Amino acid sequence: MNMIANHPPTSELQALDAAHHMHPFTHAGELKDKGARVIARANGVTLTDTDGNDYLDAMAGLWCVNIGYGREEMAEAAARQMRELPYYNTFFQTTHVPAIALANKLAQLAPDTLNHVFFAGSGSEANDTNIRMVRTYWAQKGHPEKNIIISRKNAYHGSSMGSGSLGGMTFMHEQGGLPIPDIHHIDQPHWWAEGGDMTPEEFGLERARQLEAKIEELGADRVAAFIGEPIQGAGGVIIPPSTYWPEIQRICDKHGILLIADEVICAFGRTGKWFASETLGIRPHIMTIAKGLSSGYAPIGGSIVCDEVAEVINNCEFAHGYTYSGHPMTCAVALENLRILEEEGIVDNVANHTAAYLAKKWATLGDHPLVGEASTIGMMGAIQLTPDAERRAKFAGNEGDVGLITREHCFKNGLVMRHVGDRMIISPPLVITDAEIDTLVERAWIALDLAH
Ligand code: PLP
Repeated sequence: MNMIANHPPTSELQALDAAHHMHPFTHAGELKDKGARVIARANGVTLTDTDGNDYLDAMAGLWCVNIGYGREEMAEAAARQMRELPYYNTFFQTTHVPAIALANKLAQLAPDTLNHVFFAGSGSEANDTNIRMVRTYWAQKGHPEKNIIISRKNAYHGSSMGSGSLGGMTFMHEQGGLPIPDIHHIDQPHWWAEGGDMTPEEFGLERARQLEAKIEELGADRVAAFIGEPIQGAGGVIIPPSTYWPEIQRICDKHGILLIADEVICAFGRTGKWFASETLGIRPHIMTIAKGLSSGYAPIGGSIVCDEVAEVINNCEFAHGYTYSGHPMTCAVALENLRILEEEGIVDNVANHTAAYLAKKWATLGDHPLVGEASTIGMMGAIQLTPDAERRAKFAGNEGDVGLITREHCFKNGLVMRHVGDRMIISPPLVITDAEIDTLVERAWIALDLAH
């Protein structure tokens, strides 16, 4: 029986959805038989579907609901701003109070000289902004040929033409003409899968030095920037060896290459600091932000830009922007989100308690016979599924089959956990309690048992 009021029965909703709704990253044709899961409401870390089933959301939606679901203050902030000024743009020498306040707040929170914000509607849009901004920066400085951006295989930076090109996911590049010209990719620092006989530290250096080799191959006078997620998220929560980022930083500094940290997943407390660049000691010229900026309550993204780059960009008309750049309602919602994160000490609590508790509990999954590695950093985690942990072996057959099976058992068991190939990944709301972490790990263990 359909237990949620005011909705048609789930089967009817699923049929309507399959008939008319085109989903992102979905083989939508399969939904005709299977039907999508229809989520009706959420509170704290718990999702409820239209049949009344509860799920512990270990993914915080798509890595974004940092403050958890169901916060009334967020709804009130949105409604207040909609009544006051529902829309105005920030083009053509105009501005408004929420955009000013949010840009100022972000400049306060961001490290070093990252003092300037260009707003967008999403992470993809923000990374498109970054492509045009770094190329414009060098062109303004008299080096228009310095336009190549180096990224990494298996990176995810969005799915627009620009951001999808920065990303290094081959299955995306096979559709629709990606990548655009002058984007190059080096290998990712994924020690478990690709490290061979090297120690993680040796491997981190080896992978970082691919950047130097690529710069030398292309010519430093042609390379504008390097972009990387501090911790690759959608690629499988790949925590780089400790040697990796310091070496990347050294190489960018030495060759005069701008460094873009894509913090779309990692910022706003995810690693126990406001930005993962602080956690990992990265000094970027630009940070991409989205997701946790509004905890997903409203769509917003942006680029936080250092003084040096902003000064050059602000010296010309940067012919770029989106109708919803600095949208008043989304800015008001993001400000409220930052207030909650700050005043409730949520980021500090991750650093002082929750990340360590999650790490301890998550590590116990490493004892499961199907698991080769169980790792976390802050409130992100992964387990690597393997038939033989000792040899770091892969399953025969299609990569991802066991991950898919495990994920389905998670759903049946009231847990939303994602799989990327044979890695199971989590990124729960930062407000998850110890008891909820216990439940998460118990349900994950049961799913692993059923998949084994
Ligand atoms: N950058 C990173 C690191 C991401 O993980 C994502 C989305 O998952 C994006 C960019 C794209 O953000 P959006 O989906 O808001 O366009």
